[in-house]
Amino acid sequence: DNPAIEAEVIDMLSRLLKQLGLEDFNLLINSVGCSVCRPAYVNKLREELRAHADELCEECRRRTETNPLRVLDCKVPSCQPVIERLPAIADWLCEECREHFALFRKYLDIHGITAQLAPRLVRGLDYYVRTTFEIVSNRLGPTQNAVVGGGRYDGLSELIGGPPTKGFGFALGMERLVLLVSGRSELGAPYQAPAPEIFLVHLDTPAFEHNLKLAAELREDGIFAYIDFEGKSIKSQMRQANRVSAKFTCVVGESELQTGRFMLKRMTDGAQVTLGRNEVSEYLRKEE
Ligand SMILES: [Zn+2]
Ligand SMILES: [Zn+2]
Repeated sequence: DNPAIEAEVIDMLSRLLKQLGLEDFNLLINSVGCSVCRPAYVNKLREELRAHADELCEECRRRTETNPLRVLDCKVPSCQPVIERLPAIADWLCEECREHFALFRKYLDIHGITAQLAPRLVRGLDYYVRTTFEIVSNRLGPTQNAVVGGGRYDGLSELIGGPPTKGFGFALGMERLVLLVSGRSELGAPYQAPAPEIFLVHLDTPAFEHNLKLAAELREDGIFAYIDFEGKSIKSQMRQANRVSAKFTCVVGESELQTGRFMLKRMTDGAQVTLGRNEVSEYLRKEE
């Protein structure tokens, strides 16, 4: 229950974003109350919305009856004047919720985190209790600008059939994060896949099926083994081995399967070694 946990999670998030080189984000916070205090607020909201029904979009008129809190999320311009005049939930919180929110803000303070009160931030989902928050970046534009969103969801576990559990968490928008992070040189060079230890080339279907098994065994031993899945010719399999900078290639066909002898070719200098099937793994591990 301790709101210090909430502040701690947000502190972790803001450290993460700063490490990614993002400084220009804002933390928006609100409390959506609890099952004790929220129903009265929702009723009040419904009353106000009904009185202004003719000024609302169709969706909001529907939400007035089904879930009035969702109206606060509406982005339709013509709805905004009504939304701005709606009562704020902060004025309807019960004593416990008020105290919880005050402590949450105090702990954010202790962490040195600045937050902006956002009375309309309800996150649209019914399972939120008390604290809700968003981290928004102005660089993403005026709407759809939340990089992280979350809050407290005590009771969510019960809702989906689990044991009674308190919860606080968040969702992070990967695509939006990538948009913000991309092009930042301080993150270093783009990710480069490691080079495979060995590229297993196959001549026919039995060899392909054999290679699947051999690759799995090699991977079991910690060796990065690569196979072509597109039924390419030997020539283009070799080209692909070059492209991915495989250290060794091994061409497998009927004779290899019959003799059980496999020739490994080192790509850098063309050096060759012929091994029994069970020696391949050990050889590659020594070469690493
Ligand atoms: Zn409450
Ligand atoms: Zn609307």
